[in-house]
Amino acid sequence: MSEYQHFLHRSAVKANDAAHRQKLDKAIASYDQQVNATKSRQFKNWGEARALAAAIKNETLAHLPDLLEQFEKNFLAAGGKIFWAETATDAASYVKALAQKHQVKRVVKSKSMTTEEIHLNENLEKIGVEVWESDLGELIVQLNNEKPYHIVTPAMHKSKEEISRLFHDRLKAPLTDNAEELTMIARRHLRDVYLTSGIGITGANFLIADLGAIVVTENEGNARLSMACPPVHVVIAGIEKMLPRFSDLSLFLPLLATSGTGQEITSYNSIVFGPRHFNESDGPTEMHVILLDNGRSALYQQEKFREILRCIRCGACLNACPVFHTIGGHSYNTTYQGPIGSVITPHYNGFAKFQHLAAASSLCGACSDVCPVLFYIHHLLLENRYEAVHRYHLSKFWHAAMRVYAWAMSDSRRLQSMRTWLLRLRPLQRLFFRTGETPPELSVKSFHELWAEHENKS
Ligand code: SF4
Repeated sequence: MSEYQHFLHRSAVKANDAAHRQKLDKAIASYDQQVNATKSRQFKNWGEARALAAAIKNETLAHLPDLLEQFEKNFLAAGGKIFWAETATDAASYVKALAQKHQVKRVVKSKSMTTEEIHLNENLEKIGVEVWESDLGELIVQLNNEKPYHIVTPAMHKSKEEISRLFHDRLKAPLTDNAEELTMIARRHLRDVYLTSGIGITGANFLIADLGAIVVTENEGNARLSMACPPVHVVIAGIEKMLPRFSDLSLFLPLLATSGTGQEITSYNSIVFGPRHFNESDGPTEMHVILLDNGRSALYQQEKFREILRCIRCGACLNACPVFHTIGGHSYNTTYQGPIGSVITPHYNGFAKFQHLAAASSLCGACSDVCPVLFYIHHLLLENRYEAVHRYHLSKFWHAAMRVYAWAMSDSRRLQSMRTWLLRLRPLQRLFFRTGETPPELSVKSFHELWAEHENKS
């Protein structure tokens, strides 16, 4: 089966799984309530805050090459090391080489979608390095041999009961339905991991050019421990994470917290300038920042796609999307799910495999309505559809069928006569479908006729 057929199959299974949809609806309803309350409490004018954030991101993109160099210069001056990774393989190889150089057998990671993008865990495990996720949601999906379900809440699809059973089976913990106790089980397990890991790996929510610092924002304190306890700290960040100035954080930290989780500010916000300095008593002795390209420069060079790089990975578009609500996160089989994933995945992982994601949208625009950096996500989904049809792998038959469709749809009389013909040819419809497939039912009455009947009845 192709990736597209797998996607259809997984989506159909999830769309028909009532228990799964119930869990998702509950989680998203509580998110919506929290976000709406925080937005009105925290921002006098949400629209202006979004416009300012978009303007700062546009300014950043306009000067991105210079800002990256400024960041590099400042970070090197503070004693850090920089690696420019053109591809996912380059980034993963760099971390593997570091692990081998330091003879590391165990690493601890905090939540980072960029490390998922480069398949870091699999790469490290191949050379015998044990990898532990320290974010609670990530730990849950890791113990269950799953991928993150959502870019902000990786275990959104799991109930307390399922988590309790998982901890019981994998960590030998007693069963409990108390959320606080579940958190304590993870915490007790992870304390030892922080103290025995040779490398701590994190992402970065922002890179600050004028400071040469990375910013990590989180709610559990696990990223801070992952950065501080092991002797080596490795940061893997996409080049688009840049902000020009420290002062920009006064907008971006509350904006990300509000859109991501409905908080006014995230619990732990760390700004890290480099490895431990001579007058400091703790912290890593080595700090490396891997600046990951992996397809971002190619997007940067295409004006119509450049705005993708404004994304701050808040996850709001996933929660707003009716398709995500229906099929959930795992159906996409991508690192980034939902509308943002459908836009960027074909560019990062190839149109040949993922072009179908451009059609996994009703184009309702709910994603664009909630995006805190005013990114018109559904416009770019349309651009991806255009790319898929005109530059990639669709057959001549598809192009011919679309021409006939456009011809018929542009005139109501043509549409009517086409419908009449299709109804006459209905018995032949089976010829175009594989055995076992159910052809769609053609309605005997047109929408006009059905509407007139509806009006007459009411
Ligand atoms: S596209 Fe916008 S809403 Fe979606 S994750 Fe990125 S910043 Fe958030």
